[in-house]
Amino acid sequence: MAAEHAGDLVPTLRAALGTRLRVDEPLARHTSMRVGGPADVLAMPESATQLADVLAGAASAGVRVTLLGGGSNVLVGDGGIRGVVVKLGRGFSATEWSETPAGPRVRAGAAVQLGRLARAAVARGLAGLEYAEGIPGTVGGALFMNAGAYGGDLSGVVDAVEGVVPVEGCVTLRGDALRFRYRRAELPRGFVVTAVTFALAHDEADAVRARMSEARRRRLAGQPQGNPSAGSIFKNPNGDFAGRLIEGAGLKGARAGRARISDRHANFIVNEGGARAADVKALMEVAQREVWERSGVWLEPEVQLVGSW
Ligand SMILES: Cc1cc2nc3c(=O)[nH]c(=O)nc-3n(C[C@H](O)[C@H](O)[C@H](O)COP(=O)(O)OP(=O)(O)OC[C@H]3O[C@@H](n4cnc5c(N)ncnc54)[C@H](O)[C@@H]3O)c2cc1C
Repeated sequence: MAAEHAGDLVPTLRAALGTRLRVDEPLARHTSMRVGGPADVLAMPESATQLADVLAGAASAGVRVTLLGGGSNVLVGDGGIRGVVVKLGRGFSATEWSETPAGPRVRAGAAVQLGRLARAAVARGLAGLEYAEGIPGTVGGALFMNAGAYGGDLSGVVDAVEGVVPVEGCVTLRGDALRFRYRRAELPRGFVVTAVTFALAHDEADAVRARMSEARRRRLAGQPQGNPSAGSIFKNPNGDFAGRLIEGAGLKGARAGRARISDRHANFIVNEGGARAADVKALMEVAQREVWERSGVWLEPEVQLVGSW
């Protein structure tokens, strides 16, 4: 069973990470929704070796580890997260472009911003990530979530995934051996993604640019802009849209504290400034209940709820 507090680990982790370790770090600073209490310990390793040290230290002390990428698909409870939160540092931000007999490849560190990578691919006339431009997270979080939009997702372009697991250390998984579902990759338990190699394809530069522009246009037209959010709160149920069901239940504009169901897109909850995680969760529960009563569909969260509530 995981220990409740990570305090005993701090001296060991500080020796390994120096200033890349923070104690009682408010996680609202690290999530796109801008809510969430403190992490007992936030570790930001800069190399696979440092990451392996953090995982090994936590495992031997029985301290729970929670992974955070860009924090754009998580809802951290107001009570924060007990144990160690690991967020990969800039040491995991390299990209390497190559041409192989099987086609163009890019190996991107897990901390690379997915949208930036997508724009860089388009600038090179490479197809495969056009839909991903406005997805705000990191490559590691996007791989875990099998992020996607407008008919595309990462499962179609993953050539290999590198990561670290607590006991074995560094491991590489072939893309064709990985199983992906809607908004989830099935990774070995405790696997921390450190880099992903994407298999892209050459295409007409104008055609690739046009597809990305179209994805951008659709995103700007359909999603709320400005206020912090965590993107789509619920997964789309089979053959339907969570936003349509929530709107149909008359919940557009519904409020709890400073959180609000967007008037623009009912599957977005926005933080109007000063919202608590509990406000967001309360709105989620209202949406689940009302949609269930009206449509008989139970909405499954897409956002990952973590920490103490
Ligand atoms: C405005 C907005 C628009 C969005 N639009 C879309 C969209 O169109 N399509 C879409 O799919 N999503 C969308 N999202 C949601 C989110 O951006 C994606 O799910 C994104 O891929 C999450 O990446 P992240 O780095 O922020 O991960 P986080 O939110 O930090 O983490 C998500 C999950 O991944 C795990 N994780 C993070 N890093 C790693 C790692 N290195 N190794 C293993 N596991 C890891 C975490 O533990 C957590 O369970 C949107 C979000 C916002 C705020």
